[in-house]
Amino acid sequence: MIVTEYNGLKMNYRQKRILEKLAQEDVLSIAALAQELSVSKMTIHRDLDALSRAGLISKQHGKITATARLRGVDPSLCQMCDRKIKERNVYILIGADGKKVHLCCPHCGLIAYSHGEDVWQCFATDFLHGHVITASQAHYLFEPDLRICCSPSVLAFASVEEAQKFQKGFGGQIVDFNLAVELLTKGRAEF
Ligand SMILES: [Zn+2]
Ligand SMILES: [Zn+2]
Repeated sequence: MIVTEYNGLKMNYRQKRILEKLAQEDVLSIAALAQELSVSKMTIHRDLDALSRAGLISKQHGKITATARLRGVDPSLCQMCDRKIKERNVYILIGADGKKVHLCCPHCGLIAYSHGEDVWQCFATDFLHGHVITASQAHYLFEPDLRICCSPSVLAFASVEEAQKFQKGFGGQIVDFNLAVELLTKGRAEF
């Protein structure tokens, strides 16, 4: 894996080296990196912050790890927000080339769909029963008073009656696929 430019970020030799190392090791210590590359803490943090903004690494407690984006398609991590995917909320996009993209919940699924160029099929998971449903035919409860994954919460249901029952308890707005995409992409999107 040789990444030299990503998301508008032109990488310096240290950043390239860091990504190469991350291909071999899961976790790297920031202090050790500064030492190995013979630069100050400030410089290494500047390098790492740029990689982090590009969505390639996560920085935490003096250590860095590769994001799902950097690792490529990892079906256990959401391709939008890197959350660990739970089966009961999973959202799957299948491209025209047959490539599958796994997302953590309808929130990320619908946003990924709106970014995708040639999405061939799109599946959601029924929030109540846990079975796979065709995303374009699902009913979405938008922003109920129940945080299951990303915010604003979006729950998918195969049956509109069940969505309504849920709405009675938790509020929110029942919308179809297109409106859900619109609300998510127009509104504030926070993961
Ligand atoms: Zn996600
Ligand atoms: Zn999510």
